[in-house]
Amino acid sequence: MTDKSTCPVCNTEQPAVPDVPDYVCMTCLKKAIDTRGRHVEPYNVGVSGGVQLLVEETGEAISGDICFIEGAQFKGVESRMGPTFLVRA
Ligand SMILES: [Zn+2]
Repeated sequence: MTDKSTCPVCNTEQPAVPDVPDYVCMTCLKKAIDTRGRHVEPYNVGVSGGVQLLVEETGEAISGDICFIEGAQFKGVESRMGPTFLVRA
Protein backbone atom coordinates (compact mmCIF):
# COMPACT_ATOMS: atom_id res chain seq x y z
CA MET A 1 0.00 0.00 0.00
CA THR A 2 1.48 3.28 -1.07
CA ASP A 3 0.56 6.61 0.46
CA LYS A 4 0.21 8.19 -2.95
CA SER A 5 -2.64 7.92 -5.41
CA THR A 6 -2.56 8.98 -9.05
CA CYS A 7 -5.46 10.66 -10.82
CA PRO A 8 -6.47 8.28 -13.66
CA VAL A 9 -7.29 11.26 -15.88
CA CYS A 10 -4.39 13.70 -15.56
CA ASN A 11 -1.85 11.60 -13.59
CA THR A 12 -1.55 14.14 -10.80
CA GLU A 13 -0.25 12.65 -7.56
CA GLN A 14 -2.47 13.06 -4.55
CA PRO A 15 -2.82 11.54 -1.08
CA ALA A 16 -4.00 7.93 -1.08
CA VAL A 17 -7.37 7.12 0.49
CA PRO A 18 -7.79 3.78 2.33
CA ASP A 19 -9.91 1.28 0.36
CA VAL A 20 -10.18 3.60 -2.64
CA PRO A 21 -8.14 2.89 -5.79
CA ASP A 22 -6.65 5.69 -7.87
CA TYR A 23 -9.35 8.34 -7.80
CA VAL A 24 -10.19 11.37 -9.90
CA CYS A 25 -8.65 14.62 -8.61
CA MET A 26 -10.70 17.71 -7.78
CA THR A 27 -9.82 19.37 -11.08
CA CYS A 28 -10.88 16.44 -13.25
CA LEU A 29 -13.97 15.85 -11.08
CA LYS A 30 -15.34 19.06 -12.61
CA LYS A 31 -15.19 17.42 -16.07
CA ALA A 32 -17.43 14.46 -15.16
CA ILE A 33 -20.57 14.27 -17.31
CA ASP A 34 -23.44 11.85 -17.82
CA THR A 35 -24.54 10.36 -21.14
CA ARG A 36 -26.39 13.60 -21.92
CA GLY A 37 -23.38 15.82 -21.24
CA ARG A 38 -24.57 17.19 -17.93
CA HIS A 39 -22.06 17.74 -15.16
CA VAL A 40 -22.42 15.14 -12.39
CA GLU A 41 -20.83 14.69 -8.98
CA PRO A 42 -20.82 11.71 -6.61
CA TYR A 43 -22.78 12.01 -3.38
CA ASN A 44 -23.42 9.73 -0.42
CA VAL A 45 -26.92 8.32 -0.64
CA GLY A 46 -27.40 7.88 3.08
CA VAL A 47 -25.98 6.58 6.33
CA SER A 48 -26.38 2.99 5.16
CA GLY A 49 -23.89 3.70 2.42
CA GLY A 50 -23.90 3.84 -1.31
CA VAL A 51 -23.09 6.48 -3.85
CA GLN A 52 -25.25 8.16 -6.41
CA LEU A 53 -24.30 10.54 -9.18
CA LEU A 54 -26.23 13.78 -9.08
CA VAL A 55 -26.58 16.31 -11.87
CA GLU A 56 -25.00 19.45 -10.49
CA GLU A 57 -27.51 21.85 -12.08
CA THR A 58 -30.69 20.12 -10.95
CA GLY A 59 -29.66 17.89 -8.04
CA GLU A 60 -31.32 15.04 -9.95
CA ALA A 61 -29.87 11.55 -9.47
CA ILE A 62 -28.97 9.84 -12.73
CA SER A 63 -29.88 6.21 -13.29
CA GLY A 64 -26.91 3.90 -13.09
CA ASP A 65 -23.60 4.79 -11.56
CA ILE A 66 -21.49 5.47 -14.62
CA CYS A 67 -20.22 8.85 -15.77
CA PHE A 68 -17.64 9.95 -18.29
CA ILE A 69 -14.50 12.04 -18.25
CA GLU A 70 -12.82 12.65 -21.59
CA GLY A 71 -14.56 9.58 -23.02
CA ALA A 72 -13.50 7.14 -20.29
CA GLN A 73 -16.01 5.54 -17.93
CA PHE A 74 -15.95 6.25 -14.21
CA LYS A 75 -18.11 5.29 -11.28
CA GLY A 76 -18.77 6.73 -7.86
CA VAL A 77 -17.35 4.97 -4.81
CA GLU A 78 -17.50 5.68 -1.13
CA SER A 79 -14.50 5.53 1.17
CA ARG A 80 -14.69 3.97 4.59
CA MET A 81 -14.40 7.46 6.08
CA GLY A 82 -17.43 8.70 4.14
CA PRO A 83 -16.27 11.00 1.34
CA THR A 84 -17.13 9.95 -2.20
CA PHE A 85 -14.80 9.64 -5.16
CA LEU A 86 -14.84 8.76 -8.83
CA VAL A 87 -12.72 5.81 -9.94
CA ARG A 88 -12.34 3.99 -13.25
CA ALA A 89 -15.38 1.87 -13.99
ZN1 LIG B 1 -6.94 14.81 -12.51
